Amino acid sequence: MSSINNSETFYDAIVIGAGFSGIQQLHFLRDKLGLKTLLLEAGEAVGGTWYWNRYPGARCDSESHTYCFYFSEQILKEWSWSQKYPGQEEILSYLNFVTDKLELRPNILFRTRVAEMNYFQSQNRWVVKSTKGEKFSASYVISAVGCLSSANSPNIKGRDNFQGELYHTGQWPHEKVDFKNKKVAVIGTGSSGIQAVPLIAKSAKELTVFQRTPNFSVPARNADLSKEFLSQFKSKTSYYREKMKAARHGHPWQAPDISVRETLSTEREEILEEAWSKGGLRFRESFGDTLTDLESNKLMSDFIKRKILEIVKDPNKAKILSNFDHPFGTKRPALDTDYFETFNKKNVNLIDIRQDPIQEITNVGLETESQKFDFDMIIFATGFDALTGSLLKMEIIGEGGRRLADDWKDGPRTYLGLQVAGFPNFFIVTGPGSPSVLTNMPQAIDQNVSWITDCISYMKENNFSKIEPKKEFMSDWMEQVQKAVEGTLFPIAKHSWYLGANIPGKPQVFMPYVGGLNQYRKICDDVAATGYNGFQFST
Ligand code: NAP
Repeated sequence: MSSINNSETFYDAIVIGAGFSGIQQLHFLRDKLGLKTLLLEAGEAVGGTWYWNRYPGARCDSESHTYCFYFSEQILKEWSWSQKYPGQEEILSYLNFVTDKLELRPNILFRTRVAEMNYFQSQNRWVVKSTKGEKFSASYVISAVGCLSSANSPNIKGRDNFQGELYHTGQWPHEKVDFKNKKVAVIGTGSSGIQAVPLIAKSAKELTVFQRTPNFSVPARNADLSKEFLSQFKSKTSYYREKMKAARHGHPWQAPDISVRETLSTEREEILEEAWSKGGLRFRESFGDTLTDLESNKLMSDFIKRKILEIVKDPNKAKILSNFDHPFGTKRPALDTDYFETFNKKNVNLIDIRQDPIQEITNVGLETESQKFDFDMIIFATGFDALTGSLLKMEIIGEGGRRLADDWKDGPRTYLGLQVAGFPNFFIVTGPGSPSVLTNMPQAIDQNVSWITDCISYMKENNFSKIEPKKEFMSDWMEQVQKAVEGTLFPIAKHSWYLGANIPGKPQVFMPYVGGLNQYRKICDDVAATGYNGFQFST
């Protein structure tokens, strides 16, 4: 176990991770509260998810003018997005622009992965240790490690024997990957696979997609942003800010209060056709009961299925792609550019691995139960150990030597997603039990970071030096998180990463709060307004 000694550098606060959350949290603690703050980042540069996910086609599904920081009017006005959906390179440039604008680099230590952190009760301080053995000490530690940052590379038999190129979309190399004249395999058809497949198919000699579960996808209809749009957006930032705050998902729109199944079929078809032609996440918000009424959801699912059958010419491929096993939206649906169309190309094959499971990776390719394939390259688009993966990769030891990994062995437990009993002064941005991945992330991040900053400010004003949640409030919040999901169709999707079901052995608990970011914001504001009800402070 680490011990406090004189060789450590002392800080007021340590932030872990330099993605959207870490950048905003460092800025707020340093510049609003004047705290001596250090940000530790494993990568060589800022960006978080947008630093690591460089696969072809990586792009955000939130519209660019909403997928950004709203805390600075100046930054909102100075930065101009080029397209409706921002691509990975542009988001990375944006995060570098903000980091430079706020002069944050002197407070960031790159190439520093946190291995362990220990809370020392006698000094009321955390000691954070990197994988290289450096130690840093602070009163507060804020995890900003992200919800989808711990890559899941399935342990398929023979994986290490493969002699060709092997990649994971979430750990994509910085160098250009060339697909020309190559036989390529993509395993996985979540958002990452669905974005990468059409681009890989353009230059690969042959592309074989291995699909386990058919995924819903709606056309993104990406387009360049006009000067007129950008100037109206910049003149109306408060309008967008308020719209996003009012919505359950943090996007600047709301689903109308109409039911899919109670709408006349001709009218329903018109609404859905129009939404499909406009594309984007708004398609899901065409009606108000898509995620709560099974019959309504089936009508939406059937519409998407019909679209796939229309687009994909080979009936066998069309069937594999549209043989859905879960209601639309209960696993994260994707946005795509020509995903289904790509299966009409001669060089693109599709294997249903539910029917013909992968047996092993060989030195030259891959074998399913009934076929042998030769590949030059295998790409895992197999997702992440979501929400808890990156947190639990760090050994987090709280009061009295308790390990977070032990406390969470049956699933994560937090109060409001923000704190855990027994781990004083440790905060989590977009932690399990908060709306996080069900929202437009920068908006959820802004709410969490602002709340944490206000809370620390309140502690300073009141001379409190220690905060942690009361156990009974944490249990009550966990019940509220489960109750919120019971009123929806989410539990029907048994194989979802929202539940942790994609990781063998992971406890299956629905992790995000589905009650809506607007409702969650109100709950957090009420807690703060009542002197942080449910938290205990000491001096
Ligand atoms: P994902 O949604 O978890 O998809 C992983 C895919 O790999 C699924 O098709 C999964 O099948 C398959 N898979 C997992 N383990 C497998 C195994 N052992 N053998 C065969 N197939 C396996 O991961 P992702 O596509 O990286 O996306 C994760 C999340 O990141 C998204 O849901 C989204 O929230 C975010 N994301 C967003 C964007 C964007 O905004 N455009 C882009 C990329 C990612 P099953 O479905 O059967 O598990």
